Amino acid sequence: MGKRITESKKFIITETILLILIISLLNTSYYYKNKISSIDKYMIDEYNSLKTKQKDKEKELTELKNYYNDYGNIDNKINFIKEEYFKYIKQLENDIINGKSNKKIAYLTFDDGPYYNTYKVLDILDKYNVKATFFTTTTNGTYCYDNKSYECFKLYPEYVKRGHTIANHTYTHAIRYGLYSSAESFIKAVKDQEEHVKKYAYGYITNIVRFPGGSSTARNLKSSIVEKLRENHYGYVDWNGSDGDGGMLYSKEETWNNFTSTINEKIEVILYHDYSRYTTAILPEMITYLEENGYILLPLFYESNMIKK
Ligand SMILES: [Zn+2]
Repeated sequence: MGKRITESKKFIITETILLILIISLLNTSYYYKNKISSIDKYMIDEYNSLKTKQKDKEKELTELKNYYNDYGNIDNKINFIKEEYFKYIKQLENDIINGKSNKKIAYLTFDDGPYYNTYKVLDILDKYNVKATFFTTTTNGTYCYDNKSYECFKLYPEYVKRGHTIANHTYTHAIRYGLYSSAESFIKAVKDQEEHVKKYAYGYITNIVRFPGGSSTARNLKSSIVEKLRENHYGYVDWNGSDGDGGMLYSKEETWNNFTSTINEKIEVILYHDYSRYTTAILPEMITYLEENGYILLPLFYESNMIKK
C-alpha cells in the first residue's frame, strides 16, 4: 500500500514538474514571439519613416535642381527685365522731350568714388528708395582716401546689392598727368577701370563713361576719344545740374543755393561727389525738393537720350 502511495506521489511530482516545464516553455515562446513581432513592427516603422525621409529629400533635390536651373537663367531674366524697363523709360524720355508728358526725370550721379563716405550716401539713397549712378575711379588706390584702414573695393558689391548703376570715370582720373595725352591713354584708363569694376562687382559690365573734368576737358582729342569709346560700346554723359561740390564749398546754404539754381530742365543729370560732406548733409532735402517739383529719380542707362554715343 505504502509503495503505491509513494509511486502515486512520484507520479504527481513528475507530472507537476512536467506541467511547470511546459507552462514555462509556452511562456518563453510567447515572450519571444511578442518580442520578435515588436522588432518587426519597429523595423517596418523605421523603414516607412526612412521611405518618407527619402521622398522628402527627393522633393528637396528636385526643388534645388529647379532653383539651380533658374539661377543659370538669371542673367537672361535680369537682361529681359532691364530691357523692358529701359524701353519704358526711353519712351518716357522721348515723350518728355516732345512735350507729350508733363513728367520730369532727374538722374542723380556721384563721381570719383568709392569713398568711405559713400556708405553714408548709399544709406540715404536706401532710406528714400532712390537708385543712382556711381561714376567710379581707382585714383584713390586700394584703400579709401577718407579712411586709410578700409579697403574701398568692398563698396563695389554694395552698389550692386543696393540696385545702383556703376559707371566708368577712368582708372586714373589723372587729368593733368597723362589721361588726356592721347585717345589711347584715355581708352586704356577706361578699360582698366572696366576690369576693376568687373573684378569687384560680380562681373558687372558698365558701358557709360564720364570724362574726368567733363568732356570739354579732352579739347581737340574729344572726337577721337568718342570714336574709340563707340568702338568699345561706350557712351558718355556730362551734366546739366550740380550743387557745386566739385569746387570749394563753405556752407550748406551755399550748396543748397547752387543746387536749386541749376535745377531748371525737364531731364536733369545732376553731378555730385561721394566725398562731399555738404552734399551728404543736404542730400535728403535735395531728394525731397526734386520729388516735390515733379521729378522721378532714376539710375542712368546706356540707351538713355542723355548718353551720347
Ligand atoms: Zn571726377
